[in-house]
Amino acid sequence: MDQGLVSNPKDLQRMQHELESLERRITSLEDQELEVMERLEAAQQSHTSFTTQVSEADERLDSLTTSRDEKAAGIDAELAEILAARAPAVDGMPEELLALYDRLREQKGGVGAAPLRARECGGCRLSLDPAELTTIRGAPSNEVIRCEECQRILVRTSESGL
Ligand SMILES: [Zn+2]
Repeated sequence: MDQGLVSNPKDLQRMQHELESLERRITSLEDQELEVMERLEAAQQSHTSFTTQVSEADERLDSLTTSRDEKAAGIDAELAEILAARAPAVDGMPEELLALYDRLREQKGGVGAAPLRARECGGCRLSLDPAELTTIRGAPSNEVIRCEECQRILVRTSESGL
């Protein structure tokens, strides 16, 4: 005893059991550690993958935003051009006629007035009957003529066939 040796067989057996129990505990903890490390690795891989996806989505969003802005700017420029080109055409036109034209244009898919060409409405392609043509022929040049079928303003030209 005085040299630190265990001489009691019962003590020795108890210590032996304790040692075995500790070894089992160590093995179990090592297994758990391995499992945790595997899960950590899997979680890190998922994280990397998600980060990549987020950054790809960000890039795509940036590119779409840029493209949308460019298109919007293009449309604005085009609209400004169209309005500038329209200005001389509507200059001096009676307010009422312009309002009628704008209303018809909205209702008729963007076409509010159509040429009367070869006795046919350029808007709905309907041939005008002779009685209607006679009426149009007799109407003053500043009178607003409308197609009976589609209601569009009919513009008389040299090709109207009147
Ligand atoms: Zn018509």
